[in-house]
Amino acid sequence: MNQYNFPTIILSGQGALAEFVNRLKEKNHQRVFVVTDETLKACGVLAKLTDLLDEQKILFSVFSETHPNPIEEDVTKGTAAFKDSQCDSIIALGGGSPLDAAKAIKIMTAHAPPLAQYDDAKGGDRLITESMPPLYAIPTTAGTGSEVGRSAVIISSATGKKAIYFHPDLLPDMAVLEPELTAGLPPHITAATGVDAFVHCLEAYFAPGFHPIADGIALQGLELVLDWLPKAVKDGQNLDARERMLIAATMGAAAFQKGLGMIHSLAHPLSSRCNMHHGLANALLMPAAISFIEKATLDRDQLNRIKRVQALFAVRGNQSGSLAEMSLQFIESLGIAQGLSNHGVLENNLESLAKEALEDPCHQTNMIPVVLVDLLSVYKAAL
Ligand SMILES: [Zn+2]
Repeated sequence: MNQYNFPTIILSGQGALAEFVNRLKEKNHQRVFVVTDETLKACGVLAKLTDLLDEQKILFSVFSETHPNPIEEDVTKGTAAFKDSQCDSIIALGGGSPLDAAKAIKIMTAHAPPLAQYDDAKGGDRLITESMPPLYAIPTTAGTGSEVGRSAVIISSATGKKAIYFHPDLLPDMAVLEPELTAGLPPHITAATGVDAFVHCLEAYFAPGFHPIADGIALQGLELVLDWLPKAVKDGQNLDARERMLIAATMGAAAFQKGLGMIHSLAHPLSSRCNMHHGLANALLMPAAISFIEKATLDRDQLNRIKRVQALFAVRGNQSGSLAEMSLQFIESLGIAQGLSNHGVLENNLESLAKEALEDPCHQTNMIPVVLVDLLSVYKAAL
């Protein structure tokens, strides 16, 4: 027997933001708590939302103190601000970070501190029992797909590591994919976040287990990224490309309920220890990780999966050989310089990073099992 979970209401395309605010008005919330970050406030993206809220006379408070990789203190401060301002609902506006922070704030508005007790790795999801305020998610990057996800990643203040908070009720009540909100992203962020969406689809498709629904979504997501990410990187104002990439990102997150893989386990410590952008970390690790998988002894189904992804590259003119080589060529075409060492990672960091990557649960659904030396070898190959 299998249980398949599917995402929430998704408003997608030009005009989605205005339609969302119309629908929000009908919900008659007392006051909406907007979780975002300082960058979005400064560049005017927040104003696109708050102008519409003002127009519809919807009361709101703004919390913009989330860090690029959200930390526990962001959640504590945000929860206090939510309570002080007597809000009854949450809008998360941003990349993965404000979205994750908003989900953790949602937990803490209805549950006793500390946040750490709800850590999924410790079985904390069972303590999430109270009814929580509704959460509406508006992504401003096309990558994490957190707007259709049920988990939040927050850096623990006690350990400095990323802790995952998971509960079905963390799935946003509505996801709003407005392409105009991502049009101002610079090419390198567009590229890195888009590669994150690609890796979500790839690792989900490669994850063991019978989940043809996730597999289908993952393959279609890969095609969208291959077709539209280069266009979005080249011309940020191409709203068709922006819309397709937003959808691809939600598809990646819908697909990875099947599982992720070693690329994500290797990427996570690079963010928590080296403060590297999550999508960039995935981009730097993907070719070496795929190469590691391709060199292993694989069964027929695993080989077929690799061939199907190779075929997606090949029909688009990328015939460069192994899937690792194809993925490398794709990443370089997006303007991402390969090499962890070009991005501040030192060789003597690798052993401790590998130990941390082993503790990360994502590799448990990697196409093939991995141990510490495997993870270290991929870091070294990616250096
Ligand atoms: Zn990711």
